[in-house]
Amino acid sequence: MPNSMRYCQTCRFELSKRGFKRHTLSVVHRKGKLIRAMLERDCITHAEIARRIGLTRERVRQLAQVMGFATGRSRHAICRMERRRKEMAEFFVEAQKRGFAVELLGKKSAYINGKLCIQRQACWHDVGRGEYKYTCLSIRRPSAKFDICAWKLPDGRFLILPKKLTGFTQTTFNPEESDRLGTNSSSHYYRDYVERWSLLGRPRRARG
Ligand SMILES: [Zn+2]
Repeated sequence: MPNSMRYCQTCRFELSKRGFKRHTLSVVHRKGKLIRAMLERDCITHAEIARRIGLTRERVRQLAQVMGFATGRSRHAICRMERRRKEMAEFFVEAQKRGFAVELLGKKSAYINGKLCIQRQACWHDVGRGEYKYTCLSIRRPSAKFDICAWKLPDGRFLILPKKLTGFTQTTFNPEESDRLGTNSSSHYYRDYVERWSLLGRPRRARG
């Protein structure tokens, strides 16, 4: 009997006429918009919603189901994925923008095209003394396992080196063109490896 049913526009519930009156007085109805807004944010757990609204966790679980939200478990999984993505090192964010499929292992390590990639930071370092003193970038060989290491440079670019070129513990290089010759401790050909994204192979899709 459709006439005896009413539809609550706030909660999107269908209720009998008798139940409707009671419904409009309920916590669920009065806080319906708030509950829905919280359920839309995957990082707010059912338990947290229950605590804030003053319902039981089980009631929130039932409401979420009726309102058509994913289960608590899958919301939790989505939340974890979102958090990881937010914390992802810049190299992987950039790789994704370039169309590479990034399988995160941690914040600073991921598989790209089957290659274990990690990100580290390069920092400025003074070399030499007096008039021979100049500033260059210093990088350290990571102790972690990797196939490709990307050092983030202070200007936002990346020095991307394959493992076979990382036979140093610590080394320096000048990221800019310079008349100065390198010293034994500075390998200037690294400049050619700045933004050498081709080391990762082909992106899955063309850059858009
Ligand atoms: Zn309602």
